[in-house]
Amino acid sequence: MRIDIITVLPELMESFMQHSIVKRAQDKGLAEIKLHSLRDYANDKYKTIDDYQYGGGAGMVMMIEPIAKCINQLKSERQYDEIIYMTPDGEPLEQKTLNMLSTYNNIIILAGHYKGVDQRVRDIFVTKEISIGDYVLSGGELPAAVLCDGIVRLIPGVLGDETSALTDSFQDDLLAPPVYTRPEDYQGYKVPDVLLSGNHKAIAEWRHQQAEEKTRKWKSKFKK
Ligand code: SAH
Repeated sequence: MRIDIITVLPELMESFMQHSIVKRAQDKGLAEIKLHSLRDYANDKYKTIDDYQYGGGAGMVMMIEPIAKCINQLKSERQYDEIIYMTPDGEPLEQKTLNMLSTYNNIIILAGHYKGVDQRVRDIFVTKEISIGDYVLSGGELPAAVLCDGIVRLIPGVLGDETSALTDSFQDDLLAPPVYTRPEDYQGYKVPDVLLSGNHKAIAEWRHQQAEEKTRKWKSKFKK
């Protein structure tokens, strides 16, 4: 899978690309992630990519031309399944969207800044708008990184243990059960006996029951 990220702050995203699962996916050749610095597509020698908004009001707006130039360049090289704009008024990001996106071949992720992008970018080029939550951040780089990480870890072969991503929270409408590792006894706080029993059936039942209990409590507390 190839992911092209368009941003005014590629430096902010570089370290994220060079660590952990996202790096491993690239090293294994399962994901190719390319950062595109929007200023490289600016029309003037000052590398302008934003301007005042028509009608007045505080905050700069990202201009359509550099974004169009970058997207058109990419589209001339390959076909994209989705051109995604990260924005607080987009579709709230959920696991099922990540599952779907992880099956695609090529996607573009556009990170906004300032007041956001000229509406015409959204009207003409963007095929999907995604929000990572009902709050406003100053740039789309962290949201783009969130999306990218969420997608890449689902690509088959990326995670060492094949089943690992499937047993995560939200994959089956159940949150993940509690997990424990050594030591068995930490200052009197003990690992549940069943996990040490070696009885796989009992362990599976315990995990399922814990997951259900956790999901019920979580829903009553956070899902109104
Ligand atoms: N004026 C806009 C917010 C712009 S924030 C509004 O009120 O809706 C600047 C950029 O940060 C956005 O273009 C977007 O790319 C990114 N961003 C901020 N919060 C985000 C969120 N919750 N989800 C996804 N992207 C977000």
